[in-house]
Amino acid sequence: MAPAAYAQARQTTDERVATSMRFEADDFERRLQRSRIRNTAPDLIIEIQRIGCAIAQERCSSFRFYVIETPEFNASMAPNGMMMINSGLLLRCESEAELAFVMAHEFHHFVDNDSVEMASRIRGANAGGLFIMIGLSVVGAGALGELGYLGAVANALAFSREQERDADMFASSFTNEHGYDSYAGVHLWERLRTEMLASSSEQTRKRFTSGSLFSTHPLTEERIAYLQAQPRLHPEGGGDAVRYRAFIRPHLRQWLEAEISVRDAGAGLALLERLAAPGADMGVIQYARGEIYRYRNNDGDATRALASYTEAVEHADAPPETWRQIGIMQHRVHNSAAADEAFSRYLSLATSAPDRLLIASMMSAAPPAAQPISNAAAP
Ligand SMILES: [Zn+2]
Repeated sequence: MAPAAYAQARQTTDERVATSMRFEADDFERRLQRSRIRNTAPDLIIEIQRIGCAIAQERCSSFRFYVIETPEFNASMAPNGMMMINSGLLLRCESEAELAFVMAHEFHHFVDNDSVEMASRIRGANAGGLFIMIGLSVVGAGALGELGYLGAVANALAFSREQERDADMFASSFTNEHGYDSYAGVHLWERLRTEMLASSSEQTRKRFTSGSLFSTHPLTEERIAYLQAQPRLHPEGGGDAVRYRAFIRPHLRQWLEAEISVRDAGAGLALLERLAAPGADMGVIQYARGEIYRYRNNDGDATRALASYTEAVEHADAPPETWRQIGIMQHRVHNSAAADEAFSRYLSLATSAPDRLLIASMMSAAPPAAQPISNAAAP
């Protein structure tokens, strides 16, 4: 075929693929809107929309932003203009600049039609509908799989190194132009690398030491190097970690519960160590640490768990369940006075917990009477 005719045929194929992908994305988005994995908290969505609109500018109204409740570190943008940001990513950012960097990176894949290009490229090997959104994924599709998201296919295929590099370069320029620290991506990758290398899963660690993931993705080292070679105009821009923590604080407990459910003690403890560094939210963080030691259950972990729970309850934000766990641990070693005291604290805090009767039955003394909830005592 003559080059011009070939180019035209290729363009037509790309357009067909793009149209089909947009249909699939629309269909997926309708299911997502009704799904329980979507977090609709206005505090999250408004802030994310604000950052998204700074990136998309006059095209802002064409985009929709969703927060997905799933611990995987990922963000992605579908060919129909839907951006999805995982709670596992929000939990791992430490500043608005980092979140803005990732969003700008994803936006560039969208603008450059990277997913359409990829779909066309692999179409010969994979017949049938193909709806691909791949961002910074380092793990499987997880919760999105429940909605029929073809993440397993998508995850096996990645954007090319060039596409990733282009998206990183765009994010670097965007951050510089909008007063954000352009090294935000570097900080994020560096921390992610530390966490992944601490993983209890050999497979996860290998992703950072072998070429499997990076045959198509830029090596983290390479990525860090080329980003550091770019100008850095606003080293402090968007780096207010205290403000960012306040932004995610209302969701911290829920997101840490999701991390605990992943059962990767090594990565989980590394994440908690980092989250604990500013010294805030220690009730929630120490409770989560106790839970990780409890399920890991190595030698000495019971002692570590009890120490973590005990430290957690020194802080006002400790979940009531911390007392329940202390009670269960003390009960197990027949320390009934300490167990009773902890169970009493739990029952007085968790007034509508479904396990109240069970906990009361574990006490050696009579449980405290339930507090009256009527206003009968009022004059
Ligand atoms: Zn990317």
